[in-house]
Order: sequence, then C-alpha cells, then structure tokens
Amino acid sequence: MPNPKKSPAQILTELGLYIASKNTSPDGRCASCRVVFDPANSDAKFPGAFCSLQCERRFIQEGLRSLTVEDCMQIQKRLDSLLTQTKSATPDPL
Ligand SMILES: [Zn+2]
Repeated sequence: MPNPKKSPAQILTELGLYIASKNTSPDGRCASCRVVFDPANSDAKFPGAFCSLQCERRFIQEGLRSLTVEDCMQIQKRLDSLLTQTKSATPDPL
C-alpha cells in the first residue's frame, strides 16, 4: 500500500501502479479482503485484482485517505498543465 507520508502525487502514482501490477492476482486472492476468488465473477473495474466493486472501492478509498481537496486541486492543475504542454507539442494531423 502507498505510504501516507509521501506527497499526494506519489500516493496517487503508487496506488495506480500497485493496482495495475495486481491486474492478475498471482495467488488468486483479492488485493483488498484476501479471499480466493474467480475474476469471472467479479464486478470490479479491475476484476483480476478485486473480488468485487465494493472491495475495489474500499481499497482505493483507504489508499487515498490522506489526500485533501486541496491536494486533488493541485494534482488537477498539474495534470491540466501537462496536457496543455503535450497538446501544444504535438503536431496537428494532416
Ligand atoms: Zn475482496
């Protein structure tokens, strides 16, 4: 799990990488509740990592618990800035 003493951006990045790396659970257990489950029966957005949408939401909520609204607004500003820079650096398609 992400370390809550890290910066908000680090927490967000770590959480995303952790979930992405758990897309296929190597031991067949849910990353949240640790129960053995069949991904075909999961309604989670990452069915390889979580047994249910409820477990997925709980896991993400716990991972983001230390973030504030101000943190989210700063991250949004940085993402907007990055997207603007990316768009201006990308040549228009012909
Ligand atoms: Zn679960």
